[in-house]
Amino acid sequence: MIVMKFGGTSVQDSAAIERLIEIVQRKIELRPVIVVSALSKVTDSLQNIANLSFRGDLKSALALTESLQKRHIEMTSELLSQNQAYLAKSLSQIDDYFVKLREIVGVVNILEELSNKSMAKILSFGELLSSYIIYRALNNSGVKCAIADARGFIITDDEFLKGEPDYNSIRELTPKALNSALEGNDVVITQGFISGTKDGLNTVLGRGGSDYTAALIGMAMGATEIEIWTDVDGVHTTDPRRVGNTRSISTMSFSEAAELSFFGAKVLHPATIQPAIEKSIPVRVLNSTEPQNRGTLILRDDKITSSGVRAISFKENIIVINIFSMKMLNTFGFLTKLFEVFGKYGVSVDLISTSEVSVSLTVDNDHNLDKLTQEISGFANVTVKYDKSQVSVVGKNLKETKGLAKRIFGAICEHNITMISQGASDINVSFVVNKEDLDCVITALHKEFFE
Ligand code: ADP
Ligand code: ASP
Ligand code: MG
Repeated sequence: MIVMKFGGTSVQDSAAIERLIEIVQRKIELRPVIVVSALSKVTDSLQNIANLSFRGDLKSALALTESLQKRHIEMTSELLSQNQAYLAKSLSQIDDYFVKLREIVGVVNILEELSNKSMAKILSFGELLSSYIIYRALNNSGVKCAIADARGFIITDDEFLKGEPDYNSIRELTPKALNSALEGNDVVITQGFISGTKDGLNTVLGRGGSDYTAALIGMAMGATEIEIWTDVDGVHTTDPRRVGNTRSISTMSFSEAAELSFFGAKVLHPATIQPAIEKSIPVRVLNSTEPQNRGTLILRDDKITSSGVRAISFKENIIVINIFSMKMLNTFGFLTKLFEVFGKYGVSVDLISTSEVSVSLTVDNDHNLDKLTQEISGFANVTVKYDKSQVSVVGKNLKETKGLAKRIFGAICEHNITMISQGASDINVSFVVNKEDLDCVITALHKEFFE
């Protein structure tokens, strides 16, 4: 069997869903498990609804809820206009979901309390709605489709907004749930992103998490391939929305893809690749508006022989923390003490670079930053620089590629570089630049390596 995951833009309206149905019909003999995201921008809207209600603006929260409901109803009516029975059932289910959503939003407003638990529940409506509508649309077009609730088998801990998957439970429960749903059907559809604890509480995997769901299902079901259907024809040499002349990469390794996504390429969720690596399941990134396009095939590292720069990724709104202390000179234990503080406040570090008396680090959000810097300033000088951008050049065997640093830094020589990190991994060279230089830097690098 295969897993086919369709992202937000690939299910954004009735035309996109008609395309999805055609794509699925062509693969039906492979017994696909279909994983869908919420319609594009719906998760953002649900987050807004929750926040507005919490801040006391129930009126705006309900107006936004109303427009979301209208969008889902209109789409369903377009898709099911030929089948009044399906249409009536679907509209009633959509109505039920919105009644529940309004109830929760109302409680958040009255109690002036918005826990991560409530937020996870609110965000889940996006995928519950999209999967239900697509389930009906598939059946309406003659594809025998079952629906399975991912919260019953994508099991996580109780970190409600970024649930940590429990691989053992997922391996045990997923085949049970999906194989029984597949019995007597051609395909089964389920929700990306949403998950549940062992005790049945609603969690989510973190923003962009539907890719992760697809990989977890692929792992648990022993899929032969995981297809990520999105709005670009594969992984490109850099983000095609930011740089012109990018091109799709035909094959790349798991490590390269993991590094690219970890260092900012939104096309895949950073953790996606892990469960697929575990079982060496090929991942294909495909364009749902150009299904004939071959996209990008991501394979086990040993299957990729070519080396050198493969792609450029970047992350914006990076924070650089510089720590300076003469006490570091010729002593030991300083870094242990420093990282204990990061561990204590749960702050995860992306890049690091050290000298005899100073350490520079990057983090991608300001969670607990005040407490962290206050504690570090008890034993060292700390400065924090906001609004930086991090650029990563990714490819196989970069350490062994002669002249690489000259090409990278030669191409961007007129821009200031705040920090460089290379060597920890063989597959990336990363550095930090000022926010306003980012576009010039990635365009120049792309020209140097790919044009
Ligand atoms: P989906 O909703 O299908 O999950 P996303 O918006 O999460 O889609 O991811 C697709 C987007 O990722 C593309 O539209 C593109 O702007 C962005 N992206 C960033 N880096 C890359 C890259 N190297 N190759 C392709 N797309 C990229
Ligand atoms: N709908 C979720 C989000 O927008 C998950 C996803 O699309 O991957 O973050
Ligand atoms: Mg995505």
